[in-house]
Amino acid sequence: MDYREELMIKPGSKVKLADIDPGFHGRHESHEKAMPELGETLAEITGLQELLYAEKKHALLIVLQGIDAAGKDGVCWHVIRAMNPQGTAVTGFKQPSHEELAHDFLWRIHKKVPGLGQVGVFNRSHYEDVLVVRVHKLVPKHVWEMRYAAINAFEEGLTKAGVTIVKFFLYISKEEQLARFKKRLDDPARRWKISESDYSERELWDDYVAAYEAMLSNCSTKQARWYVLPSNHKWFRNLAASKIILETMRAMDLKAPAPSVDIDAIREKYHKAEEEG
Ligand code: AMP
Ligand code: MG
Repeated sequence: MDYREELMIKPGSKVKLADIDPGFHGRHESHEKAMPELGETLAEITGLQELLYAEKKHALLIVLQGIDAAGKDGVCWHVIRAMNPQGTAVTGFKQPSHEELAHDFLWRIHKKVPGLGQVGVFNRSHYEDVLVVRVHKLVPKHVWEMRYAAINAFEEGLTKAGVTIVKFFLYISKEEQLARFKKRLDDPARRWKISESDYSERELWDDYVAAYEAMLSNCSTKQARWYVLPSNHKWFRNLAASKIILETMRAMDLKAPAPSVDIDAIREKYHKAEEEG
């Protein structure tokens, strides 16, 4: 089964998150049973990324969005690590600086888009400008409302320039989020991850749901689709993300470039003696 088909948001459809089960884990029964498949999938991603790096004809941009504790960092750790750091950059987008706020919202984003041969991962992204910004009314409605179209045009332009875009919305339930916060509180090694604002943001859950639904409904386009990853089970989230990345990379038809030198001539000149000896 291809999770691209199953978890993708059809362009033009109206998304209701209540219709999606964040505890879904497909045909996979358990973490243990899914492990070998995750390993194989990551190994194939490693090989394809090497081709992408060598060929330098395509770029891959992976966008991660999700509420606090949904697992954006987890996907970086468990999935993106299959890629060679030489050709991969992860960018976390925080609250914009004064300089960034003085520019249009895509300015800081565009600078971090991967170049040909590179993979870029956005841990949060330009979508924050229609999420946190909308929920907290950081700009007037008519400003954030225009951003959906601006984002679609931006992403279409990137696609035409050779960037393949994959967007993951990590979806957990409200109960699962609270359980994860509690685990962080209880674990001295992970306490640093928790902040008071995590709890205050939680009170705005319904507003976030409305903003996520608008993002998914307005911005899943033919050239840059959104996928909703049911993420209550971390192992399924990792498996689904890796499988979708793999399918996407396979479809890019990556090929190692032809050698820039005459292989036979080089062999003859430098290796003949050793082969004869
Ligand atoms: P974290 O990813 O947990 O390190 O937190 C980053 C914080 O920056 C989150 O609270 C985001 O909502 C916030 N953030 C990211 N982008 C923007 C933006 N464009 N405007 C306002 N806040 C943002
Ligand atoms: Mg956080």
